[in-house]
Amino acid sequence: MITTGGETESYCTRCKLNLDHIVVAMVGGAVMKVKCKTCGSTHRLRGMPAVRQEPSKKKGVSSKTSVESPALWEMAVEAAVGIELDYDMALSYRSGDLIAHKVFGKGVVQKTFFKKCSILFRDKERILATSNT
Ligand SMILES: [Zn+2]
Repeated sequence: MITTGGETESYCTRCKLNLDHIVVAMVGGAVMKVKCKTCGSTHRLRGMPAVRQEPSKKKGVSSKTSVESPALWEMAVEAAVGIELDYDMALSYRSGDLIAHKVFGKGVVQKTFFKKCSILFRDKERILATSNT
């Protein structure tokens, strides 16, 4: 039985995780408001989030996205041909293209997929939306 002041698991909209929350308000036996024990934010109780489509369940494409060594990135940038292209999801790219991304910096296109491509940035490889077909 949950009471005000008790704990319940809820989806925290700030932490984006199911976490322990303290019940702060109840109406008619139903939990209305909870406070996240992790970030301290108070919000209405939300059930489990709708099952999200985990893109990483598609094996092979995005599961190996982290690159430990920046040396790989340096080599890729040096090997990249042509001028730096501004990243724009309205454009399509080819593998080997050198990309200048506003946030992630320089990257080199590794592989292209339908409507996206994987780009190796200094910290890791990311899948970005593009207009590839
Ligand atoms: Zn939280």
